[in-house]
Amino acid sequence: MITLQPEFITAFHKSLAVPSWISALEAFVTARIGTSGDFKTTNGIGSVRAQYADERYLGPNSVVRYRFEVKVDVDRDEPTRLRDSYTAAVEFDPASGRFSIWEREQLSTVETRARYKDELRRAKEEWIESFEPLESREAFELWKCPVCSGRFRPLFFPEGRSWSYSCAVDPNHLPSCWSGVRLDPGGWWVDHVADRTCPKCGSSGQVVGILYGLVMMEVDRGVWELGGCTVAPQDRYLWHCRTCVLDFARGAKE
Ligand SMILES: [Zn+2]
Ligand SMILES: [Zn+2]
Repeated sequence: MITLQPEFITAFHKSLAVPSWISALEAFVTARIGTSGDFKTTNGIGSVRAQYADERYLGPNSVVRYRFEVKVDVDRDEPTRLRDSYTAAVEFDPASGRFSIWEREQLSTVETRARYKDELRRAKEEWIESFEPLESREAFELWKCPVCSGRFRPLFFPEGRSWSYSCAVDPNHLPSCWSGVRLDPGGWWVDHVADRTCPKCGSSGQVVGILYGLVMMEVDRGVWELGGCTVAPQDRYLWHCRTCVLDFARGAKE
């Protein structure tokens, strides 16, 4: 059973909320939670308050004075810190003495939150899928450094599904920052996966890429560190070792 604590301010609502009225509302909310199918139990504690708690809204012809907000923390069947929650905008009909949902009802359970997170993850996967495919090796080899006309050297970061390239003669001629690209399995990029061995600890286990510029997506912190918008291209390091808290441009084995 759901127990509701009335939080009424006005005389009108206080006189309405006699114990039998509260009990009827509790029974209504308990039934809603029970039939939703999303909650583990129909036990919990919540509150009810008036949506309009200003006397000027409560005249005899008011259509809003019987509208209420209900919020409930619903128990789960196992002991846990995580709570399920139910909120609803409920309307009371004084003629019939019945309650109804008049506008909205929101369920937020551990499971629905997990589903939502899953949907976000899928949306991100789809966003990554929408990246342009990598150009062919032949097309890439036609690109030349604007400073020395030398060839470019590509670096790929498979977990980040991204790449960067710089002048093979002198990386300061044109360092690019990481940009998203579709890395299909078995593409030519597999021959150019960047070495990101940290020059200090000699490991790549805690090394992530550094993203520069305005980043418009939710960033996977397992793969990226944010480098900020104002760093000049020649000062951009590609990698960050979380063990050593060190930024570096090139892997130790390059
Ligand atoms: Zn060059
Ligand atoms: Zn390190």
